[in-house]
Amino acid sequence: MVERYWEALKGVKDPEIPVLNIVEMGMVLGVEAEGEKVRVRFRPTFSGCPALRLIREEIEKALREAGAKEVEVVEARTPWSTEDMAEEARRKLLGYGVAPPLPLPLVGKDPPCPRCGSQEVVLKNTFGATLCKMLYQCAACGEVFEAFKTV
Ligand SMILES: [Zn+2]
Repeated sequence: MVERYWEALKGVKDPEIPVLNIVEMGMVLGVEAEGEKVRVRFRPTFSGCPALRLIREEIEKALREAGAKEVEVVEARTPWSTEDMAEEARRKLLGYGVAPPLPLPLVGKDPPCPRCGSQEVVLKNTFGATLCKMLYQCAACGEVFEAFKTV
């Protein structure tokens, strides 16, 4: 019976990036159901993200709409890594104009421009619109874009 809860969780978007849901972000580690009580093991992406409280509320709402009477959101201790993101999530980010996180060994490197693929990019600001993203400008095509931080 947990399938419908997983489905419901796919309706919870990452408020930072509305095209992505928390399941493809790799934020949901497990769903257990006991009667009408549902427990979600959840791993926040960036502990400093102000969106966290909102996501928890959205999780609860989605599960209640799927039939849960009682919802418990347990925060997992294992830290989230951008490696946990589904391949689909990376593709969607790119389509959204956001440079997806680089593979972990390349942490600290600049991402290629999501528009033209050029490596000639200039870091404009360590903190883009949110703490999770950085702001770059492409020297080749002039595109200003956000890049998802690799963690
Ligand atoms: Zn470019």
